[in-house]
Amino acid sequence: MTLFALSSGLVKWTTASDSDMDLVLNVADHYVLTPYVYPSSWPEDGALRQIISLLVVTNLGAAVLYLGLGWLSYHFIFDHNLMKHPQFLKNQVRREIKYAMTSLPIISIPTVALFFFEVRGYSKLYDHVEESTMGWPFVLLSMISFLLFTDGCIYWIHRFLHHKSIYKHFHKPHHVWKIPTPFASHAFHPLDGFLQGLPYHIYPFLFPLHKVLYLALYIFVNIWTVSIHDGDYRVPGPLQEVVNGAAHHTDHHLFFDVNYGQYFTLWDRIGGSYRNPSVLEGKGPLDCIRRLTAEGKMSANGANTNGHTNRHANVSSTKSKEE
Ligand SMILES: [Zn+2]
Ligand SMILES: [Zn+2]
Repeated sequence: MTLFALSSGLVKWTTASDSDMDLVLNVADHYVLTPYVYPSSWPEDGALRQIISLLVVTNLGAAVLYLGLGWLSYHFIFDHNLMKHPQFLKNQVRREIKYAMTSLPIISIPTVALFFFEVRGYSKLYDHVEESTMGWPFVLLSMISFLLFTDGCIYWIHRFLHHKSIYKHFHKPHHVWKIPTPFASHAFHPLDGFLQGLPYHIYPFLFPLHKVLYLALYIFVNIWTVSIHDGDYRVPGPLQEVVNGAAHHTDHHLFFDVNYGQYFTLWDRIGGSYRNPSVLEGKGPLDCIRRLTAEGKMSANGANTNGHTNRHANVSSTKSKEE
């Protein structure tokens, strides 16, 4: 879960001590929050005001980003044929959205605590490229460093969440969706979502990071999180070996203990959990649907030959080590 950092970057820029203020929130603060919402006696840098603003902006930003990116992906990228798969659940999309929208406000509470420390100046975020000793090369370097740091952290947090004594309490809800849609991207138990988003929040406390880059990276990681659930399995040839895309993450949902990664396959290879995506071997969910249709076990509209829709069927076409 990564939506919240975006809001954090925005809110920080609205504090009086910052010169590089974000246009959108600056406008919101200038035209809405200060004149109409908060009493004039309440200074913009008051702690309680900052916490309330963070909670509101964080929750609004999370909902808009999750639903907006999810909707775009669902309508323009997600292959709706996947909904015919035997392991696609009844009312799954509605259930994914409901689960995510229930968890996001809970996740926002510890997240806002971290944002508050960020807003109060405890992080290593900086405003201007000149503030870095290495200038632009450092901006590029920190982009790579951010992706590698968070990728490694998320891999091990994700493996920890799969530990048999932890899994059923916190991570199992995300694995209910064997054939995920883009709306499964943020459908996590609150603790699961917070822990998997934690590396994004920790990074700017440990390493210097340009604020605009921070914002851009968070938009990117949210798009990425949606994209590995979008059922678009294409990855440019040379990148197939190194990038953990939807093809890889689909196998994580289907086979449970493989391909834990976020962006790269690096840690799965080091940790011995890499699996060549079944999609790339002609054994993916869409291949399964085609096979069942050809064998006469499923009609073209996704109903099995007994007349029941496959969304209701308790058919397992893949072996999972989950239970
Ligand atoms: Zn998992
Ligand atoms: Zn997932």
